[in-house]
Amino acid sequence: MLGSNPNEAKEFWSSTINFSSYTHSFFNLALIISITLSWYLITKHISISKYKEQFNKLITRLSILSMIICYPTGTIYFSIKTFVTGFTTGIDYGTLTTGERLLWGTYTIISEMQEVDKITEQLKDDNSIKVTKNKLPNHQVVLIIGESMRPDYMHCYGYNLENTPHLDSLIQKKGMYLFTDVVAPGHQTAKCIPEILSFKLEEEPEAWYEKASLPKIMSQAGYQTFWLSTQENYSAVVRSISAISHKLVDSCFYVKNDYDNEILPYVDKEITRTKGKNNFSIINLMGSHVNYADRYPKDFAKFRAKDIQTRLDVNNSQKENIANYVNSIYFNDYVVSEIIKKYDEEPSIIIYLSDHGQAIYDDQNNPNLAGHCLNLGGLSVPMMIYINDKMKEIYPTEKLAEIEKAQDKAFITDALPYAIMGLLDIQTSINNDQYNLFSEKYNVARKRMPHWGKRSFEVKHSCVDVSKIPSRQSAVKELAKP
Ligand SMILES: [Zn+2]
Repeated sequence: MLGSNPNEAKEFWSSTINFSSYTHSFFNLALIISITLSWYLITKHISISKYKEQFNKLITRLSILSMIICYPTGTIYFSIKTFVTGFTTGIDYGTLTTGERLLWGTYTIISEMQEVDKITEQLKDDNSIKVTKNKLPNHQVVLIIGESMRPDYMHCYGYNLENTPHLDSLIQKKGMYLFTDVVAPGHQTAKCIPEILSFKLEEEPEAWYEKASLPKIMSQAGYQTFWLSTQENYSAVVRSISAISHKLVDSCFYVKNDYDNEILPYVDKEITRTKGKNNFSIINLMGSHVNYADRYPKDFAKFRAKDIQTRLDVNNSQKENIANYVNSIYFNDYVVSEIIKKYDEEPSIIIYLSDHGQAIYDDQNNPNLAGHCLNLGGLSVPMMIYINDKMKEIYPTEKLAEIEKAQDKAFITDALPYAIMGLLDIQTSINNDQYNLFSEKYNVARKRMPHWGKRSFEVKHSCVDVSKIPSRQSAVKELAKP
């Protein structure tokens, strides 16, 4: 309801309006009417006329009393009881009536927003963490956060259809490093993005906003910070992300759009504005968010159901949906590579990853699901780092070797801020090389077990099959040449 996106509002209303509660009220009313009517009919035919009038009066009074006093009082009593229990033990949304859902939903949204606002305000002024400015000449750091992108459906990660031609050629040109065993800290945007952009690790009990934030640390290290997004701005669902973009970043801009490519002119503007300076930009895309068919313009409908080769037990409309997903990745390949190209004239480090993955009809418990899911596909994500030619001129070569060496290491993206500190050689009082992917001390054995409520899923290896990655195959072929 608080969202700018009509789909979000639709989802909010369908989750809020509970028709069963109306049925319940109507049932009560019908019961009172039918008792009254039955009494009237019975007394009409039996000879208790002496008492009939008195009984009629009594039953009418009781019905009115029940309708105007007992029923509402009872409802209010039980609603208050539900809320009081809700404060202490958490509320069961499924048992609430429509009115209660609206009240409780609005209350929790407002109180959580206030909590996040209060703490992000504190983080904004907290300078207790010591940061040494980085020693590299001025450059751009761009973090592109994609959406619902699953690596084994991308050609550059070994998918059979050629849906990433631009990324493929960037990888071939060198300078683009592909990470093969990366998972997200969850399967929902609202959980993943705050963990990616703060020093909170999945296994730590604190909330993300109780830990240092990446934009804040980058700002202390001498970068201007900027947020550019095609996702929705304010809504209950993304309130934590709104708090980051509005409170912890120097400036932010949300592009009202149909498709992700509409962000490109704003990338140009940003590059012009920050030319020659140290700048950290976070670009948040709509990527492959459901519904997949809505994520790309018609010109990018390259693949059809007949092109999909799969071992999954899917019907034709599900195959069509897989083709839509594959096409959304084809369009994303164009948008991401266009962003990368725009930074060609500036020394830039560009990191691209997805917030989380996606289940594509392969969840054991729900084989008909194409969407967010706490399983291997729902947690596996692509991650790549591009060091452009201008950046290579100023970037230490030993650092390039560190990046190359880290490509197949197991990683969870909640540790990205630690890795970025390593990548840029920013020293802070909270650096920890155990979580810095590029350090020799990096802990490859860290348990990767994202949680969602009481459920968790342990990932041993992402869904990527390294032997299928085209760039790795050509490297093998080159080695085999005499
Ligand atoms: Zn997401």
